[in-house]
Amino acid sequence: MPNIRVSALFRPLNSKEKSDHGDSVSIWGIDSESFVFKDEKEEETEFRFDRVFFQGSEQADIYEFLALPIVKGAVNGVNGAIITYGQTGAGKTYSMEGPGITNCDDKQKGILPRVVDGLFNAIKLSDDRIKYKVKLSMVEIYMEKVRDLFDLSKDNLQIKESKVQGIFVSGVTEISISDSAEALQSLSRGIANRAVGETQMNMSSSRSHCLYMFLIQQELKKEKRYGKLILVDLAGSEKAERTGAEGRVLEEAKTINKSLSALGNVINALSSQGKLNHIPYRDSKLTRILQDALGGNSQTAFLCCCSPSPANASESLSTLRFGARAK
Ligand code: ADP
Ligand code: MG
Repeated sequence: MPNIRVSALFRPLNSKEKSDHGDSVSIWGIDSESFVFKDEKEEETEFRFDRVFFQGSEQADIYEFLALPIVKGAVNGVNGAIITYGQTGAGKTYSMEGPGITNCDDKQKGILPRVVDGLFNAIKLSDDRIKYKVKLSMVEIYMEKVRDLFDLSKDNLQIKESKVQGIFVSGVTEISISDSAEALQSLSRGIANRAVGETQMNMSSSRSHCLYMFLIQQELKKEKRYGKLILVDLAGSEKAERTGAEGRVLEEAKTINKSLSALGNVINALSSQGKLNHIPYRDSKLTRILQDALGGNSQTAFLCCCSPSPANASESLSTLRFGARAK
């Protein structure tokens, strides 16, 4: 069985949701692993996840449950991925980055800055004889093109595979980082570049997947081992038909749907392995980049982000179904 943990997260109601629907929410009977979801037609479905984070959960708890075991694994040469899924506005980026990557309240810090701290802490606590090197890359996948967020001129990178490195993005900028401060500085630069690219291409960041990739090299007696840790802030999962999209927006939506279904298919194939041997990694750039961070002995965590408001019930339901299918 692959090591996949799936959690559901409900962010707090926002002011628009409150003014439209008061305090009402579409879930009840919530405990740490399950809840009942009420859809638009008042039909109820019970969901069970590895963990449920309801409004008011602490970012630190989310990190500890979801990410810490994966960070420890990566420092020991076990690959891992931490993925946020959900409609635009559901809280993916907030969970991943926090309200900002630097200069934010400690309590509000997201998974990414905590991963950085956790990574360097685990390295500090490890066997002194092991020498570590950490490299960071950041890419964005938009319309099935992989773009380097440390060098926007590299806007169509290819994904390759080698015996030593496994899957890698050929020619991507890799920044050596030796402590949390350096990592955060580079990450901020990548995030700022992403915003520049968005303006240049007149697109929204919610329409692309963002990947933060850490490569952790261990060296002991001339022998090298690698652990890969990939954090993914996915494009919004909302259905485009409902918004009456056309032209480029519709094309974007179709491409996103395709890659999100490819991700779902890969996860399903992994959880039913034994019966199904072919894992369709090559169906999208997203699943191809994630190939050796999903499956095998790697560890994967999904955070399925939802609005708790009845106004978003149908999108939340589809996000929860994606998560339930991944189990
Ligand atoms: P997404 O990345 O899924 O499109 P965001 O993370 O940008 O969504 O969240 C949308 C809005 O909701 C933002 O204004 C964000 O600050 C707010 N928000 C999301 N999650 C939380 C949370 N856990 N606590 C407080 N505000 C949140
Ligand atoms: Mg976002």
